[in-house]
Amino acid sequence: MTSESLPIREDVPLAPFTTFRIGGPARFFAEAVSEQDVAAAVTWAEQQGVPLFLLGGGSNLLVRDEGFAGLVLHMKIAGVEALGTGAFEVGAGEIWDGFVSQSVAAGCAGVECLAGIPGSVGGTPVQNVGAYGQEVAETIVSVRAFDRQLRTFVDLPKQECRFRYRASLFNTDARDRYIVTRVRFQLHPGGAPTLRYADLQRHFAQASAVPTLVEVAAVVRGIRRAKGMLIVEGDPDCRSAGSFFKNPVVAVSLLPEVAKAAGMEASDVPHWPAGEGLVKLPAAWLLEHAGFVKGYGAGLAGISTRHTLALTNRGGATFADVERLEHEIIAGVESRFGVRLEREPVLLG
Ligand SMILES: Cc1cc2nc3c(=O)[nH]c(=O)nc-3n(C[C@H](O)[C@H](O)[C@H](O)COP(=O)(O)OP(=O)(O)OC[C@H]3O[C@@H](n4cnc5c(N)ncnc54)[C@H](O)[C@@H]3O)c2cc1C
Repeated sequence: MTSESLPIREDVPLAPFTTFRIGGPARFFAEAVSEQDVAAAVTWAEQQGVPLFLLGGGSNLLVRDEGFAGLVLHMKIAGVEALGTGAFEVGAGEIWDGFVSQSVAAGCAGVECLAGIPGSVGGTPVQNVGAYGQEVAETIVSVRAFDRQLRTFVDLPKQECRFRYRASLFNTDARDRYIVTRVRFQLHPGGAPTLRYADLQRHFAQASAVPTLVEVAAVVRGIRRAKGMLIVEGDPDCRSAGSFFKNPVVAVSLLPEVAKAAGMEASDVPHWPAGEGLVKLPAAWLLEHAGFVKGYGAGLAGISTRHTLALTNRGGATFADVERLEHEIIAGVESRFGVRLEREPVLLG
């Protein structure tokens, strides 16, 4: 089956396109290497009356065992264009970590701490990826996308993307409306690396000179690798979707209860301010204090042996295995602390 300009395959297994390596087939599957392909795929899916799903690197994705009864469009639009003085326009299908390598090698600061995050450039604005003291929103100038409502390509300035912690317009209010085709970044040529994160500060504490961007990116990848948070072929701890739970934001008045349940003082519970009367709690801390420690789980899905927040496919796990573990953890943390955790990866199917 084909649209006029776009080859469309049928019954394509999705597991190999995800870092979890889990999930059934897509009823229809196509690759978009240009903006014309994106427009053609939207038209085709509408004509067939089937839903459309955008696939990037599949690193924040959990696919159900039944698969997806619609068209999966794999975003493969390529191209890194240097526009001068630290400005870049990058195709949605470029590998994010490749762009990081290129920009740090060119001496442009702003994304060095985001080295090693898997997935595509087009996936980064969706959940405003962040790590080790940086968030991608800090360097995004605008996002070019196909607006499925207005049926045209639009350039959304950063302010319209409504970036916040692991969220944007694209995964909240306007979910399914925009197909990101290109992202424009403004980096800082000759800028100093961001060394806000304690592990990074410790690593460079003895250094006689300010580390280079390339050095910082390499250290970040090293830290990630030690935690199973870098995709390394053959490492079962990275057969995951990264952090499986978001850090919950709760009323500050809940802190004494959380502390009591953990048998400590409220001031000893790790937390960060998160707006008027609110605090953010580390989900990993909640899991560990509810008994869900590294290596937890007797089945095919379990908690990573190196990172409490990553649920992993130990080999041959199904969606049902992951879902069972997810429910067990959510219920366990809620009954212990009265805090309900939310899943970070997107569910498909
Ligand atoms: C080992 C590991 C470590 C990770 N570490 C981090 C981390 O440190 N910080 C962090 O924030 N995340 C992390 N992640 C999560 C993930 O890498 C990011 O969320 C990444 O940006 C997802 O991009 P992707 O291309 O893989 O998106 P996918 O998983 O393919 O898709 C995720 C969502 O984005 C949508 N989407 C993808 N591309 C487009 C597009 N072009 N237009 C519109 N929508 C689109 C999809 O439809 C889906 O809803 C990690 C994941 C893994 C496996």
